Amino acid sequence: MFILILGAPGSGKGTQGKILAERLGLPKITTGDLIRGAMRDGTPIGLEVKKYYDEGKLVPDSVVLGMIKDELDRPEAKDGAILDGFPRTAAQAELVDRTLAQRGQRLNHILLLDVTEDELVRRMSQRAQVEGRPDDTPDAIRTRLQVYQRDTAPLIAHYAQRGIVHRVPGTGSVDQISEAIKRIIGR
Ligand code: AMP
Repeated sequence: MFILILGAPGSGKGTQGKILAERLGLPKITTGDLIRGAMRDGTPIGLEVKKYYDEGKLVPDSVVLGMIKDELDRPEAKDGAILDGFPRTAAQAELVDRTLAQRGQRLNHILLLDVTEDELVRRMSQRAQVEGRPDDTPDAIRTRLQVYQRDTAPLIAHYAQRGIVHRVPGTGSVDQISEAIKRIIGR
């Protein structure tokens, strides 16, 4: 089963994705973690993407598409995965759809974590104090929210046509939200 967790930055995708992946015994693929890893290791890709990342902009598809393809092709993701942080653009969605279709698979569920913008800003600012992420500065947070609305939110309509989008209220305790997801997925 392939499940996509979609939501604005700060909506709790990472937290809920981890819980879901553990419960279903599926790998979680997180482009943000892969990008942070490349930057930490100082790889050529890591150096190339740093300026986009720090400003809260999307890393170009020319870099991310290859990353996504490699991850989906891993044997661990043969039967399913939790996708966290991608697809975020139309080109990425097309790649995911095509790669899965070639294997006779498809995205089964899209979980849309619904959180108000005020709450998103509050959470990211709080995280900035704990984790010190360079993209949790006020300017980068603003950019990330704009980029989400412009590039990623339109994917909701794309997938809604297939009837696989479930809206999950993203406010409440972590447990309440994961229980809501459990009810939707059925396990
Ligand atoms: P995240 O941890 O998912 O909030 O991602 C943090 C940052 O990593 C984003 O602001 C982008 O700079 C970059 N990033 C993560 N996933 C993607 C993606 N699928 N496409 C482009 N950039 C991404």
